[in-house]
Amino acid sequence: MSAAARALKSVSRAAFSWKQTGRPQQTLAAAVSRSGVGLHSGAHATATLLPAHAGEGRYFVVEGRDDARVAAEVGNAEAQSLLCTTLRWGGGGGGGPRVRTVEHLLSAMEALGVDNCRVEVSGGDEIPLLDGSAQEWVEAIQSAGLCAAEDSSGQKLEKLSPEIHEPAYLQRDDCFVAAFPSSQIHITYGIDFPKVPAIGCQWFSTFLDANIYSSKIAPARTFCIFEEAEKMRGAGLIKGGSVENAMVCSISDGWLNPPLRFKDEPCRHKILDLIGDFSLLAQNGNQGFPIAHIVAYKAGHALHTNFLSRLLGKITVDQEKLDGKC
Ligand SMILES: [Zn+2]
Repeated sequence: MSAAARALKSVSRAAFSWKQTGRPQQTLAAAVSRSGVGLHSGAHATATLLPAHAGEGRYFVVEGRDDARVAAEVGNAEAQSLLCTTLRWGGGGGGGPRVRTVEHLLSAMEALGVDNCRVEVSGGDEIPLLDGSAQEWVEAIQSAGLCAAEDSSGQKLEKLSPEIHEPAYLQRDDCFVAAFPSSQIHITYGIDFPKVPAIGCQWFSTFLDANIYSSKIAPARTFCIFEEAEKMRGAGLIKGGSVENAMVCSISDGWLNPPLRFKDEPCRHKILDLIGDFSLLAQNGNQGFPIAHIVAYKAGHALHTNFLSRLLGKITVDQEKLDGKC
């Protein structure tokens, strides 16, 4: 039996259920926006975060397509998103409006408890990369403030959270995502770049709450390997990537734009991305990140969202193709 086939049986819908938290769903107390360059398009874009009703969850509206709310749910994740997480209205495989590079904003909203939010995107279809971390999103959310969300009849709704009951994992080659029962959210992440000595093998493990997120995870910037980035740029990709919004590491020369904010900043950034991707488990304004100990090694956006799809029992044909990619 192949590794992929074994993995199919390892993540099952029975592994989790929704649990009451005793806390109300929240939303922003005021609107707030941030502007900047999009990683892929290089275009100057603006994302405006607006309060939303309880039960609406987090969703995106692209300028000129007010008719299409792109819900931040795993069923809308694009299967081929290797460099970033893309959401598409009507499902990942369709031709509806899309929003790209959503993961850092979603990560901050999930960690800080912005359960319901309308995000209006103008100047393109991409969320601005800002400094490559989630720090500016955390500051934006803190400046707007949070409040209990109400539904259209003025009622508050209790927030539910997904809870893992039994170990579950998804593996592809030496990359994996695993979830273990735990009374608190705990995340452990490993990366290994044997050909890039300045990064090498790193592990980072932490409990998660809003304070830990804001101080230890949100400031960690995205990173790239200089030689790979040059190839992508030659292929017309990452037009907005620069030393202003990513840490750049050369195979032979090490970090090209020091200093790092943490010695293990790349590994911490992978946790930032994981939280953003796992926020897509949220539905109807409930929590996305499961109460569990999540352990991931050399995973990426595709493996993260594929794991969630299996947990929900929603495997699409496109996602099956991802078995060849981490
Ligand atoms: Zn990232």
